[in-house]
Amino acid sequence: MKALLVIDYTNDFVAEDGALTCGEPGQAIDGYIAEQVDVFVETGDYVVFPTDLHEAEDPYHPETRLFPPHNVRGGEGRALYGRVGLAYDEHQREAGVRQMDKTRYSAFAGTDLDLRLSERGIVELHLVGVCTDICVLHTAVDAYNLGYKLVVHKNGVASFDERGHDWALGHFENVLGAEVL
Ligand code: ZN
Repeated sequence: MKALLVIDYTNDFVAEDGALTCGEPGQAIDGYIAEQVDVFVETGDYVVFPTDLHEAEDPYHPETRLFPPHNVRGGEGRALYGRVGLAYDEHQREAGVRQMDKTRYSAFAGTDLDLRLSERGIVELHLVGVCTDICVLHTAVDAYNLGYKLVVHKNGVASFDERGHDWALGHFENVLGAEVL
């Protein structure tokens, strides 16, 4: 059993006017990710959309002093972007498709993701989304430590930082033992 994790593909992280946008590299992977969602739904595999959630001006959250406000509860910035958003809308009622909130870079930090995966017997995770060197990276590190087999889709990840993106792709392969497709 395998799962596709579509990480943080929201307006704030992808759209031209997003609060913390990856810009063009983020927009360029929209079609690829949407196709992967269709493929995983068709094969009956689990599809999860881990989505950053922040409270406005939360004084206790470490990102408040690092980044401008983004993915704030109730805002349009948290909505999934483009064709990926349409794919989610189309499939969201299906049993194997789930949106989940996260409040840290990693989709595993303070969430029930590991339980949801292990109760389904899932051992292989396919990662797509943004940013390659922040939320995708931290999710991959936690997945590695939990013993999951990792596949990172090179055409399905992007960052605002090209050097960080390239570095992270090498790290997935050479340090986390991931297959980089
Ligand atoms: Zn955040």
